[in-house]
Amino acid sequence: MSFTLHGLAVSDGIAIGQAHLMSHATLEVSHLVIAPRMVDREIARFEAALARVRAEFEMMKESMEHAPAELGAFIDLHSMILSDPELSEVPKQLIRERRCNAEWALVQQMELLVEQFEQIEDQYLRERSYDVRQVVERVVRELVGQPGRAALKAAKGVKEENLIVVAHDLAPADVIAFKEHHFASFVTDVGGATSHTAILARSLAIPAVLGLHNARQLIRDKETIIVDGTRGVLIVNPDPRVLEEYRLRKSQIELERSKLKRLKTAKSATLDGVDIALHANIELPGDVTAALEGGAEGIGLFRTEFLFLGRGDMPTEDEQFESYRKVVKGMEGRPVTIRTFDLGADKDLHPEDVVGDRVHTNPALGLRAIRVSLAEPKMFQKQLRAILRASKYGRIKLLIPMLSHAHEIDQTLAAVEQAKSSLRGQKIAFDESIEVGGMIEIPAAALAVGLFLRRLNFLSIGTNDLIQYTLAIDRSDEQVSHLYDPLHPAVLMLLAHTITSAEKANMPISVCGELAGDPTLTRLLLGMGLRQFSMHPAHILEVKQKVMQSDVSELGPIVRRMLRLEEPAKIREQLEKLNAGTLGNG
Ligand code: PEP
Ligand code: MG
Repeated sequence: MSFTLHGLAVSDGIAIGQAHLMSHATLEVSHLVIAPRMVDREIARFEAALARVRAEFEMMKESMEHAPAELGAFIDLHSMILSDPELSEVPKQLIRERRCNAEWALVQQMELLVEQFEQIEDQYLRERSYDVRQVVERVVRELVGQPGRAALKAAKGVKEENLIVVAHDLAPADVIAFKEHHFASFVTDVGGATSHTAILARSLAIPAVLGLHNARQLIRDKETIIVDGTRGVLIVNPDPRVLEEYRLRKSQIELERSKLKRLKTAKSATLDGVDIALHANIELPGDVTAALEGGAEGIGLFRTEFLFLGRGDMPTEDEQFESYRKVVKGMEGRPVTIRTFDLGADKDLHPEDVVGDRVHTNPALGLRAIRVSLAEPKMFQKQLRAILRASKYGRIKLLIPMLSHAHEIDQTLAAVEQAKSSLRGQKIAFDESIEVGGMIEIPAAALAVGLFLRRLNFLSIGTNDLIQYTLAIDRSDEQVSHLYDPLHPAVLMLLAHTITSAEKANMPISVCGELAGDPTLTRLLLGMGLRQFSMHPAHILEVKQKVMQSDVSELGPIVRRMLRLEEPAKIREQLEKLNAGTLGNG
């Protein structure tokens, strides 16, 4: 019988194959009362199982050189959970006092802990209950004699590429095994959007659906299933018509992907031979890998404040220096644009440490970004010195967020000079000719862009904030998110004015807001004269494809005509035609 299950779409793509059920030891433990004389032996059996799992985690960490970076952190977390007395000691008391067998004692204690986790309001912490379950599952498998990876073994003669793993839950260790096994996809009953399993599925780039509740129980081994990882749908025993339709969609997706991948090393240039620089936005040094894999020619925006959010104190100059140096070395000679802290508003670190403990009625209009840095000269000097010191190791550019006044630019440049001269005094090397640029993300800055052109070396338009401030829409408030419109004529006017002014002054300008990574806006931006884009690494190849299919000599006049329109419906209609290539130049 054919049926469909709906879950959480966590990793794109379509897989078609046979169900491969993974056993679920925790759900199947026997409940025994043991004789008093057996208690010590049962405790020893429990301790031995813990020790084997601990050793397994250690071994995994050592053999993880090529595994996704996130895995290391997961294994650490699981080792921590394993060593917590709540799991390593309390079950022993249960064995002694209630004379339960070891697996039953452990599962009881797990249920108690999971219940506590599930009361937590914070989604991320709540979802750590999955990690507790996963660790316990491993220990139970040791106790019942079917350790780790054996559970994933395919039957003789069955090709793994045709198998879809159906599990109640998967642990990081299982996902490591996936690397060795080449399964087509996996689906699980549990797991949330921020669960480690979801994060890993994305990093492995195989389709996956989580949170299906009863899939493990409803599906039988070897049944045919379709996993639609884009829509979060699982179709069991599909009828031939549905199967055919999905086969077609699958091959279309695969074709698109392989075409895109081939673009990684292709030159990013338009049909009429204009070079377009595609850079990556990153938040952490570890993101450099994704940037390079996406074919980024440089880092266009390193949001440094993310390095330190959630850590409770301000980083030292040396800690910052190490992070910046890591990025610049990782990019192997490609340019790296480091933005100074954009703290405040939705990215408040510790407001009381940085900006005093007054209440902020309008944080987005308050002490934020460069305003914080100028109000905290010691903090600013530390960051500038760290960035300058790292500039010795590659091509660093310095980017300043949220500038609006000429005197702020002047003060910032003076602070850079001060940092340089203190380094000179200490005979510490740095790039003397480091370029300093400004973010254009406040309407005043876009309108009076001349102030910036006269004082700085390059500009970068932050459309996320530019739209927020132009339309008076709080970008983090979902109640007004329907009013957040990149195609509002006022936004387009500001963008076009800024890009044209920079072009006339021969000043490099890029866009680093979300707009830059939206392939439906690539032609519009190219037509405005933009030649440098910076975006999330995952979007680079798609945007590159658009660039390679565009002719800027044609786009310019069409976009100029579009910019004279004010009616949103007309603007959208013209944009669709522009993307479809059906707008003539006449
Ligand atoms: C922007 O505002 O568009 C931008 C790139 O900066 P952030 O999103 O970090 O505010
Ligand atoms: Mg911004």
